[in-house]
Amino acid sequence: MFATIDMGGTTWKLALMQDGEPLVFAELPNTRSPEDLDRLPEALGSLCQRAGVASCDGIGVSIAEFVDPVAGTCLPPGDTHSYLENANLEAILHRLIGKPVSVDNDARCALLGELSAGVAQDFKDETVVLVALGTGIGVAISARGDLHYGSHSSAGTAFGHVQIDPQGPLCACGRSGCAEALISGWGISERLRERQGFGESVLAHSDPLDFRRLCEAVRGGDWFAERALEAFVSDWASMLAVLIQVVDPAAMVLGGGFMQSADIFIEDLKRKTLGKLWRPQNMPVFRVVAEPKLSALRGAEVLARRAAGLAPRPNSAHC
Ligand SMILES: [Zn+2]
Repeated sequence: MFATIDMGGTTWKLALMQDGEPLVFAELPNTRSPEDLDRLPEALGSLCQRAGVASCDGIGVSIAEFVDPVAGTCLPPGDTHSYLENANLEAILHRLIGKPVSVDNDARCALLGELSAGVAQDFKDETVVLVALGTGIGVAISARGDLHYGSHSSAGTAFGHVQIDPQGPLCACGRSGCAEALISGWGISERLRERQGFGESVLAHSDPLDFRRLCEAVRGGDWFAERALEAFVSDWASMLAVLIQVVDPAAMVLGGGFMQSADIFIEDLKRKTLGKLWRPQNMPVFRVVAEPKLSALRGAEVLARRAAGLAPRPNSAHC
């Protein structure tokens, strides 16, 4: 039995996993303080009790931070777990819970999860890119089933902070005009307010003003919302075309919260992405994650097996 923790920006999801499926599940708030870690032993103990098992064999942890998976540390700059910057999370959790622990970045865990038990299982022998579109933008790359880490363990992780418009809005990273500031969940409400015609849209009375509300307005036939979504899709397509031309994947896996509304934009996104490729024959197969909440937990189960010594861990030769 393997315990998994998905440490996200708003909540931490905990599950005991077996063969890609959660047996028991719990959620804790991320209060962004070190005391959150102290709640884990009791929460995991309670999960084991509910599942009727004495303990777990290993723990896999997915976290929305830069991670060195060989050392088990969170790398700077910290985001929603800034108190863990430069901390050895594997060692901290091992000390707290007394079980072997393996940690990796959340987008990389999501890709591992989709390769092991999700929509990318038939691409294990190929090159795959995962893009998570939601509150932020996460990117992960694998080749023949192995994650690609890069020279500083951050391949793909900073892709959301590629600068698109130097005159654009200030980003959370302190620079201006990053993809995240323009076309991710937290940047979208400002972009909508700036667009001409906002005052005549149903979105002008929407609180909160977010991607879910935008999609509801599109489904309701709101002309402004339709044009705005088209513009966002065009920008996402530019981003995907860059990744495709750099990495040349066989499959592009799309996950994250935005994909809950994929039915209203996925065909347009594919068409626009294809239109932006210099070599259209390089267009990969697109797969939309079927169960976005499970992706990272399934990847964390793979990590937990590694922690328990039941699967090889990544090492510097793989990175
Ligand atoms: Zn940025």
